[in-house]
Amino acid sequence: MGLGQMRILKRLKESAAELLFPRAACCLCCGDPRRADAEDCLCEACRSKLTALRVPPEACERCLSPVKRGKPCAFCRSFQMKPIHKVYAPYQYKDEARTLIHQMKFNSCGEAVPLLGKAMALSLPERDFDCIAPVPLHPFRLRQRGFNQSLLLCRELSGRTGIPVVELLRRDRYHRPQSLTPQALRQRNVKNAFSCAKDAEGLRVLLVDDVRTTGSTACACAKTLVDAGAESVSLCVAAVVYKSGSKKKRK
Ligand SMILES: [Zn+2]
Ligand SMILES: [Zn+2]
Repeated sequence: MGLGQMRILKRLKESAAELLFPRAACCLCCGDPRRADAEDCLCEACRSKLTALRVPPEACERCLSPVKRGKPCAFCRSFQMKPIHKVYAPYQYKDEARTLIHQMKFNSCGEAVPLLGKAMALSLPERDFDCIAPVPLHPFRLRQRGFNQSLLLCRELSGRTGIPVVELLRRDRYHRPQSLTPQALRQRNVKNAFSCAKDAEGLRVLLVDDVRTTGSTACACAKTLVDAGAESVSLCVAAVVYKSGSKKKRK
């Protein structure tokens, strides 16, 4: 069968599935029909793939980056971790975890929020925070997207932990999205981007975002809060970029 024919067949299969199973009954990751009684909008295959994407236990305890045995963690010593006490995250940012986050962020898929929020809550053994604070979006970006995914995750996490959501931060400058900014320039891109909208003095804050890639955004937020007198700032995200580099490239 040629590639064109295969594509047509795939599309036919997808359309048939859409007719038979409404959107809500399809897996959020792969679109395949899922079991009607599945509690989390995933098919069984994607659920087990997602489980395999958990941050491995050998990751750095503080920042969840890969560490070489017996060596100090390079990310912890970087500027990005300086104002951040500790990082919590259930997943590595790739494959199904990445798809779920994109579904939430770019396809406004509300079903992804409780799924990710639940996993985030489970990744959070400590609960001694005074409040949960979202990474704010600039008003322009908020109007464009219609919602702030960090705030949605905050509310979900708050419902599961009882820690109140306080929108402590404000985004003052409009920047190019970090995802479209080269990694080396990300720190500069968010410099002085945030300020405190409310009193953060003495608070133990849990900052929430969807993903930590270079950590520049979280670092800029945490620095603003620490400068405003917050006692500590930890970070909880749905996924962290985790590049162990220990696997040899296959070719
Ligand atoms: Zn699936
Ligand atoms: Zn570390």
